[in-house]
Amino acid sequence: MALTRNGVTYRVADSHAHIYPEKIAEKATASVGTFYDTEMQNLGTTAELLRSGGEIGAEKYLVSSVATKVEQVRSISAFIAGECEKHPEFLGLGAWHQDVTDIIGEMDHLEELGLRGIKLHPDFQKVDIDDARLLPVYEEAQSRNLAVLFHMGDYRMAFSKPKRLAKIIKQFPRLLCIGAHLGGYTTWDEALEELPPAENLYVDSSSSLDFLTPEKARRNILHFGVEHTFFAVDFPMWRHCDEIDRFFALGFSEEENRKMLWDNFARVFSLK
Ligand SMILES: [Zn+2]
Repeated sequence: MALTRNGVTYRVADSHAHIYPEKIAEKATASVGTFYDTEMQNLGTTAELLRSGGEIGAEKYLVSSVATKVEQVRSISAFIAGECEKHPEFLGLGAWHQDVTDIIGEMDHLEELGLRGIKLHPDFQKVDIDDARLLPVYEEAQSRNLAVLFHMGDYRMAFSKPKRLAKIIKQFPRLLCIGAHLGGYTTWDEALEELPPAENLYVDSSSSLDFLTPEKARRNILHFGVEHTFFAVDFPMWRHCDEIDRFFALGFSEEENRKMLWDNFARVFSLK
């Protein structure tokens, strides 16, 4: 599977996708839509993700889901790991919550499940990125080479402000940090000003390209670096076929497209 655009063939990875168990997919998808006051373009099930991504030849997906209560952490991580086992297209991130007390035990468990890191959504979880309860989590993730995918930005609240991530990037220079949404959903200018590029910081393109002009999106990508940007869709919020069109409209070169669509992701997650 691959994608051909203007006569060029690309491999595609989607570094930010959400899936939910069939039973709750409808409710979970709708509640995210309400939070962002937007119409969700898909239902967040595995089958729908593979169908939507299949339309653009996506070969790999980094899948996750968010725990809003500490009691949900284990079951969400188990669900994600189970889907990864069934679908070799998936790499999974575990759930986390600031009230996890046995940090080492939970990290051991994530690693046993074969998960590649954790997803944090500070605004859903009502926790600052630089909250003291998360610092030992970053320390532990750093020592295990586990990634942390941060939902970034929301002008309506302060939990996921770009400057909070800037502190963490500096404090944990070997922690693999992925700042979603080009460094800050609806706070793209703030991301440019307050979140400097760094060796350990990657950004993803999801939930950004429909809101920004190509010039503004390019500006954020060039700030963090083409080598540090992943193409991502934030399914079920968007359709893959629409997001890939928005991505190609940015006007990057064939080589730059290749890096953002596949090479960076493949390198960071050691894909063959
Ligand atoms: Zn997300």
